[in-house]
This record gives sequence, structure tokens and C-alpha cells, in this order.
Amino acid sequence: MTKTGKKTLRILFISAEADPFIKVGGLGDVAYALPKALHEMIPGELDSYELDIRIAIPCHAMVCQKTLNSIPVANFVIPHTSGDIPVKVFQTQTNDIPVYFFSGAPVIPSDSPVYSGDNKVDGQKYFFFSLAVLEFARQINWQPDILHANDWHTAVAVYKLSEMRQDDPFYKNCHSILTIHNLPYMGTGSESELEGFGISPTESEALPEWARNLPLPMGLLTADQIVAVSPTYATEILTPEFGCGLQSFLKTRESTVSGIINGIDQSLWNPETDEALPTRYTTNFLDLRRINKEALFKEFEFNNSLDIPLIALISRLDPQKGVDIAIEALRQISDLPWVAILLGTGYSKLEEDARKLSAEFPNQVRAAIKFDVKLSRRIYGGADMLMMPSRYEPCGLAQMIAMRYGCIPIARATGGLKDSIVNYSEDDSNGTGFLFKNPIGSDLAGSLTHALSVYEDKTAWKSLQLRAMQQDFSWKKPALSYANLYLNFVNS
Ligand code: ADP
Repeated sequence: MTKTGKKTLRILFISAEADPFIKVGGLGDVAYALPKALHEMIPGELDSYELDIRIAIPCHAMVCQKTLNSIPVANFVIPHTSGDIPVKVFQTQTNDIPVYFFSGAPVIPSDSPVYSGDNKVDGQKYFFFSLAVLEFARQINWQPDILHANDWHTAVAVYKLSEMRQDDPFYKNCHSILTIHNLPYMGTGSESELEGFGISPTESEALPEWARNLPLPMGLLTADQIVAVSPTYATEILTPEFGCGLQSFLKTRESTVSGIINGIDQSLWNPETDEALPTRYTTNFLDLRRINKEALFKEFEFNNSLDIPLIALISRLDPQKGVDIAIEALRQISDLPWVAILLGTGYSKLEEDARKLSAEFPNQVRAAIKFDVKLSRRIYGGADMLMMPSRYEPCGLAQMIAMRYGCIPIARATGGLKDSIVNYSEDDSNGTGFLFKNPIGSDLAGSLTHALSVYEDKTAWKSLQLRAMQQDFSWKKPALSYANLYLNFVNS
């Protein structure tokens, strides 16, 4: 009980990365913004509970440099067949939320990145980290009601918890949630590292045999609740097209699978305050966007009239994102009036293809092969359309950012894209973007052609932009959905 007479609900949020300490991808955004939104929930939204949420991340080499203001809070060991491995835990705060950094030999081999690309190495690190987090809570006698893990890296904590709950009074009443941010990444290659940490693969026949020693499936088998990062992705993963071979197993767990869409930090992504923009604007002064477009035309040396639509791609250059589909579609509609900027890095073949397209259409296409957040902001704030032809998209943030900046998404109707974009149609007035069905160049080309024709109608386009900008993509609603899941457990 707290001073206010409320009960405390303790949530241990465990992730491979968390902004502002370390961010490599979308998971880092979520691990920053979701705990913050939960922490900021108004009392009263949670019945008689107050949330005590704490974040645990590995003390990656890059994080260590930022832990100067952190204090050591625990020292203990994690047993391993090669000998006990010492763990040191440091604590700091972000947005009044305690954050714990876990260090130890498997976490800091020299300047190891967050994801090394070698799952054997990453398995060592993340299994050690997952077990250390569970042991740490006991060391500081802080008994979590909920363990909230994310993706394969921390799925082993969920699996281990399910074993501990059987005879360990400390964890007897702890419930687990495993959020899937990207199902295909199951931790393949890390299997050999389980045994050293005393973790036996499952023998459960519910999982296909090939998945019984993979961290993500092991976590999905034992989690009390599985959350996909959008409602549509939660249904898609039950199908052969998106289930990565786990669809039949996930079907057996269907009653515990739900979808909660991610949000964006609307104060960080705000065209009214974004200092990266040549001109800041609001829905009331939307015409100012044209100055940003003009600046982009100058920066990228387009000699065309500003009336020509500017199409953008801001993405990892990865087959998942359908970059090849975008390139193919632009080629198909090259005789229409448009210019395009492709911003991204990733697979070298796709980088090369983007460069080739720009060489082929020197008046129309520019390829910026780099990771540049400020440039991405300038593009969101000046381009007319953003292509997202993803083959699969668990949630996607770029389309939400684009809409907030009045840059209209042209996206495949899948996962979080389908859940966050309302397809434009001349017959109704709800559209916020353009959706197409199949991940093929001709479908995207069709959608782009439609968008280009709507763009001609300045009034219709402006209404579309205003509707897109007025969508609520804040974390408020998703945080409430997570909080309700937590409460369901403790109230059941
Ligand atoms: P992902 O699957 O890569 O996490 P999301 O759409 O969820 O895709 O998030 C991508 C984020 O990364 C967006 O904020 C987008 O603006 C940003 N981003 C992608 N590529 C680049 C780049 N080359 N430069 C700057 N930002 C980028």
C-alpha cells in the first residue's frame, strides 16, 4: 500500500535497448516511451493501483559511457558451466523511472554492438542478462507482479520464470508478458548457449521440433500473455504467410495473443517545434510546408517546378521493407510528373539498386545512402508522400511520423500500416493515406498513380493532409491497453 492508500503494481520491463541510453531500432523507442507513458498515467485511470515500473537493459559498451551518473546497486553471480559469472548492476533514472544497467563479461566483450549479427555471441549476452535480471529483483527484494519482456533477446527470462514459479515463493505470483516486435527474429544460432546457463530446451510438443530450443518460441510457449505490436499483426502471425512456421502453435495460444499498436512520442515528432526544419508549421499554417519542400529541392538539386509532387522513402534498405518494390514501382510510373528522394542504408544490393535508379533517372530520383535523422526530419516536413511497401510490418513508426508531418503514406495494407492508415477514397472523407494489397511493384504503382491524381486537386489533398496530421498516435491509448493487461492478471 502507498501513502495514498493505493496498491502498488510492480512491473519489470526488460529490453535489449532503451532510448535515451541506447537505441538501435524501434525497440529502443518503445522501451523509452511505453514505460514513460505508463508512469505518467493519471491516478484513477488504474482503479486502485499505482504503477512502479522499472527498466532493465544490458550495460552495452556504448551505454557504459553514459552510466557515469549511475550508482552501483548490486553484485552477485550467475552460474555457468564454465564457472560463475560475476554481475554488476548500476542504477540511474529517466523520467523518474529507475533504470538498471547489467554488466558482466558476456555483455561487454570490447566494443560489442547491441546486436552483433552473430546470435551465438548475442545468445551468451542476452541469456546472461535475462537470468541476471531475475536474480537481481530477488537481490534487492523487489518482487515484480509483472515481467514484461520484448523479443527473443529477453524471451528466456519468461521461460525461466515459468520454471521458477513452480517452486520459488519469490516468483510464485509473477505474471509474464512477451511483446513480439518482429517474429522472424527467433534467436536462431543462439541455441548452443542455453545449456551453459542451465536452460533446457522445452520438450513440449505444442511447439514444432525445430523451435523447441529457440529463445523466442520458448518464451511464446510459456508467456502468460503474448502481445503483437499491432492488432492486424496479431492476427497475421496466426497465418502461414506471416507465422514463420509457428502459426499452428500460435493458434493453440490464440486466446492469449493480443495486439497493441505502438505510439510515437508526439513531443519529439512535432512539426510545430522541430528544429531540424527550415520552417516550422501547424495545421493552421500548412502552406508553410512549401518552404521546406523548396529547401529540399535546392538541397537535392531538383530543377523542377515545386508543383511536382515529391515522393520519399525513409527506411532500412531491407527486403522486409519492400525497397525493391518501391524501385520497381517508380520505374513503372517514370513517365508521370514526380520526383523522389530515397533515404536509407542496409543491404548493399538494395543500396546499389537505389543508386542505379537515381543514375537512370537523373532528373527525377536522388538516393541518399546514409542514416541521417535530421535529413529524415527535413524530408518528413517537406515531402508530399512516403512510400512504405513493406512485405510485413509488425507496427511501423515512419508512417505515423509522416502523417503527423502532413506527408501522406502510400503503404501496403499489412500489420500496423493497415491499423494506422485509413485508405483514401473519393467517396468518403476519412482517408489519411493510400493502401494497396499485394507487395508487388504494379500494386504500389497503382496506388502512387491514384495519389498523384488526388494531389492535383489541391483542396482534396489539403483535407487529406489535415486529417492525417490530426490523428492521435500518442502512447496514451497503447499504455492504457498494456496497463489493463497488467491489471487483468493481478485482479484474476
Ligand atoms: P523499423 O522496422 O526499421 O523499426 P519503423 O518504421 O518502425 O521501421 O521505424 C523506422 C524509424 O527509423 C523511423 O523513425 C525512420 O524515420 C527511421 N529511419 C529509417 N531509416 C532512416 C535513415 N536512413 N535515416 C534516418 N532515419 C531513418
